[in-house]
Amino acid sequence: MLVDSFNRQHDYLRISLTDKCNLRCTYCTVENIQQGSNGKLPIITADEIETIASAFVKLGVNKIRLTGGEPLVRKDAKDIITRLSKYPVELTITTNGVLVDEYLSTFKAAGIRSVNVSLDTLSKKRYFSITRRNEYDRALANINLLLQDDYHVKVNVVVMKGVNDDEVLNFIEWTKNTPVHIRFIEYMPFSGNEWSSEKMFSHQQLLDLISSKYEIIKLLNEKNDTAKKYFVPKHKGTFAVISTMSEPFCSGCNRMRLTSDGKMYNCLYEKQEMDLLTPLRNGMNIESLIQECVLNKKAMLGGNNENENWGKLNTETREKSMINLGG
Ligand code: SAM
Repeated sequence: MLVDSFNRQHDYLRISLTDKCNLRCTYCTVENIQQGSNGKLPIITADEIETIASAFVKLGVNKIRLTGGEPLVRKDAKDIITRLSKYPVELTITTNGVLVDEYLSTFKAAGIRSVNVSLDTLSKKRYFSITRRNEYDRALANINLLLQDDYHVKVNVVVMKGVNDDEVLNFIEWTKNTPVHIRFIEYMPFSGNEWSSEKMFSHQQLLDLISSKYEIIKLLNEKNDTAKKYFVPKHKGTFAVISTMSEPFCSGCNRMRLTSDGKMYNCLYEKQEMDLLTPLRNGMNIESLIQECVLNKKAMLGGNNENENWGKLNTETREKSMINLGG
């Protein structure tokens, strides 16, 4: 069992399959970011992902989420999904949805039942201005395909003032007749994404806005939930808020991350990484390194809360972006 010095048990691993993406979301990455590391960094192979994942499973991991970049652009993603499905874990995926139609049979065979799809707008024109790619129709059609196939579909919406905050109520309206689970995410600062607190739309602001039109009821949270869940009576879907900025949820954190160049991070905001790939390639046992990394986990936000700058964080201090670390 992976327990840190604050007695938090870690049983959830998020694996970034690649830092490449087929979209260019303005808030996530920048057009000139080096994608795919230009072949300079050692990209982890499918064999290595499986070996590292199996070490985590041996240490108590029972949930693995594949993310990125966009996990489905990786050429051997189907192979990796199939291999990981053989382990006693709940296997899930976070995707922008664009390529989902090519993966439905793989998901089914792998026993995946829940998929998180990112979609920040219900307007085709705005989708293009946010993602800089013309994939709205395909992404939305794929969400509908997943719903038709009875997947539990969570739609991730990063809410940004002046960008898409005017669509919050449209997303709630979508839950009326559709069993879709909207997750509003507070906009977070990352290297190069020009975050500022003025652009953030907080948990409380979301609740104020939504309750101006709908009756909302809070659902009970499960252990380790990052999202605060709600529903509108008689709606088929639900909504939730991921309040990383205004109300961080570190005390129940059970997450660890593996990047596509084989580095382990114990927090999205941790600056210290633990290289697992080089030791693995040198024939070392990586289990003790995983344990060491978990033991070094800070109480909150990779230690960034300690300088009281959390919430006003200078984005330039972030060395990695979301696409490097895996969202
Ligand atoms: N490509 C996949 C996708 O689009 O879902 C997986 C990777 S993406 C980095 C994972 C999630 O992180 C997405 O829901 C995305 O909206 C979210 N994300 C990226 N940058 C963010 C930021 N600055 N603040 C909050 N959420 C962010």
